[in-house]
Amino acid sequence: MMTPMNQTHTKRTYLDYNATTPIRPEVVKGVCMAMETIGNPSSIHHEGRQARKLIEQARAQVAELVGAQTKQVIFTSGATEANNMVLKGYASHRRLLVSATEHPSVLYAGVDVETIPVHSTGLINLDALKELLDKDTRPSFVSIMAVNNETGVIQPLKDIATLLKNYECLFHSDAVQAVGRIPLYFSTLNVDFMSLSAHKIGGPHGVGAIIMGKGTNPPKLIHGGGQERQQRAGTENVAGIYGFGIAAACALNGLETYKNLETYRDQLEATLKNAPTDVIIHGHDAPRVPNTISASIAGFEASTLLMNLDLAGISVSTGSACSSGSVQASHVLTAMGATESQAKSGLRLSMGWATTQDDIDAFTQAWTTLMERLTPSCQN
Ligand code: PMP
Repeated sequence: MMTPMNQTHTKRTYLDYNATTPIRPEVVKGVCMAMETIGNPSSIHHEGRQARKLIEQARAQVAELVGAQTKQVIFTSGATEANNMVLKGYASHRRLLVSATEHPSVLYAGVDVETIPVHSTGLINLDALKELLDKDTRPSFVSIMAVNNETGVIQPLKDIATLLKNYECLFHSDAVQAVGRIPLYFSTLNVDFMSLSAHKIGGPHGVGAIIMGKGTNPPKLIHGGGQERQQRAGTENVAGIYGFGIAAACALNGLETYKNLETYRDQLEATLKNAPTDVIIHGHDAPRVPNTISASIAGFEASTLLMNLDLAGISVSTGSACSSGSVQASHVLTAMGATESQAKSGLRLSMGWATTQDDIDAFTQAWTTLMERLTPSCQN
């Protein structure tokens, strides 16, 4: 039998919540219960109605978490699908403008995507956005994430929406890394679409949602039955959606205390700076969510640090994608003006609902040992 990670005998320290979060025990319980529900939620008999009830409960919980109405929530297979749904939906008749630091599911969802630069802080360059909109007056579709997955930088969605009101423009925000971390009220943000993912808030993988503003009706990405108000065909993932709802309720409950992670973040940053070379904390001059640190340690490749930390029982990630053994520079850090070596040495630490002081202490101990061991050979 496969052994879940949390049941291995060696104690591990998980600091990679922005990749995915450990599933909450309440969610596991709910998903197991929902998997035993027999009906297809589109069937009108008793079993069908039971399954429908689970989905509608989740829809209300997800809507409440983001301050939207239930009818605005359309469930998808995740945020990748939600992002593709709207970007591909509008690509044929609108200009697509996306920030340079978007997730690949936004950056590569359209053929002719134009990128909006960011400042070195990671914040969107509003003047550059205005210039892009002024120079070509065709209707546009703008996508700017609420919180960056590598740096945790929070974009000023309200200010952006205010600017966009002067143009014929639809506004989408990938809010995957914002939801459950900062308060979000869809109804007052003046955003037309928002993408969410369950597994970033203690829910199951493979479930997400697109929140649709009033009067919006994007062309369909997936054709078939009439599920999800004709917007997303396919029999719903009942158990996954039900788990998403429970995770959303837990995230809403935990929102007040989430900012306590800042204490851990400060400790981790102090530990990282305890390196023999220069340490840059990316995005630290901008508003950031409390759970994320993106750091470059001069002279140390992030992949080397990651592998050594992994061996010491600590899970972190690099800001950059590794392919065929070669480390690629992070497009996020590059867009923020980092040098190639800084963009290749981005290390990301991210925390969440189950992080404890023990995790922080374990990281500090492993880091100190690692720096002592690696310094003679790696130092610049
Ligand atoms: N957007 C952002 C900002 C993300 O961090 C992720 C997950 N890495 C996604 C989109 C994709 O979400 P999903 O895994 O649900 O497809």
